[in-house]
Amino acid sequence: MIDLRSDTLTHPTQAMRDAMATAEVGDDVFQEDPTVKKLENLAAEKTGKEAALLVPSGTMGNLISVLSHCGRGDEILLGDRSHISLYEVGGVAALGGVHPRPLPNNSDGTIPIDLLEKGIRHTDIHSPPTRLICLENTHNFCQGTPLTPDYMTEVHDLAKKYGLKLHLDGARIFNAAVALKIPVAKLTEKVDSVMFCLSKGLSAPVGSLVCGSTEFIEKTRKMRKMVGGGMRQAGHLAAAGLIALNDLVSRLQNDHENAKTLASQISKIEGVELDETKVRTNIVFFKLTGMDGESFISQLEKKEIKILMTDKEEAIFRAVLHREISKEQVETVIKEFKSILTEQ
Ligand SMILES: *Cc1c(COP(=O)(O)O)cnc(C)c1O
Repeated sequence: MIDLRSDTLTHPTQAMRDAMATAEVGDDVFQEDPTVKKLENLAAEKTGKEAALLVPSGTMGNLISVLSHCGRGDEILLGDRSHISLYEVGGVAALGGVHPRPLPNNSDGTIPIDLLEKGIRHTDIHSPPTRLICLENTHNFCQGTPLTPDYMTEVHDLAKKYGLKLHLDGARIFNAAVALKIPVAKLTEKVDSVMFCLSKGLSAPVGSLVCGSTEFIEKTRKMRKMVGGGMRQAGHLAAAGLIALNDLVSRLQNDHENAKTLASQISKIEGVELDETKVRTNIVFFKLTGMDGESFISQLEKKEIKILMTDKEEAIFRAVLHREISKEQVETVIKEFKSILTEQ
């Protein structure tokens, strides 16, 4: 089976399994797990922040970050195609009483600066006070595009001007850093907090990190406990995370190359709508114009290929490249796409 639905499907490597089995652990709610501490220190170092906190999922990391920056009735500005806006069950509103105000994302994952500035509300009696801006890098539902340090700086300057905080959903921030050929810290230096995932292309089985100031991380630690994310011998998970950060970042480049190959080849097929120049990391979105989405999916499944249909009516699909998809398998996928779409 060639499974392109998500990079979350990656299994832990043998080195991870070995490290997990033998990890030195303690009770992390008591802050006595040495392996968790090691991972948190490494995450803080990589993102250039004072401190970090291991959480079970990216969704929880984003949630407790927003809840630590905002109180009930506060407002956040975020992109209308952002993961927090679309795929986190509305948690910031449901659990935090925080009002999310989605603004239109550009196709490269940015939000226009003038729209952000117009969106900021403060003194009017009718308005919830804006406290926080949330960005996403790479931007999953905008072709996995990496946001640049220049754009991060622009948004930071705006946030500063109005006394707002800036949070980054950096689920795939290491993909962004690898694609832009810069250290991750260059992409996180301007944000107050960042969440990133170990469980996507970095192949760890479980885990995300929230990074920020010492004071902020203490708040998120309490929030994590509140939402049930305080874990005990979590060092077994952190052991895999250490390998993810130390050994699996540079190979993300392979996934980006495979994504480029896939995009450039399938964009030539009649009936596939795809701008290959937008494919910069490991995510490829495309639209089918000549074939029904459901039947495409079922024909692919017969060839043992899985991709995600993100919009049935529009026949929009997402393919994500990852460690368990080889160059040869990409060639197979291209060949099968051609045969299904040109011989129907
Ligand atoms: C996957 C993802 C998350 C959430 O991560 P989970 O661990 O699945 O909860 C958040 N933001 C983005 C952009 C993601 O792709």
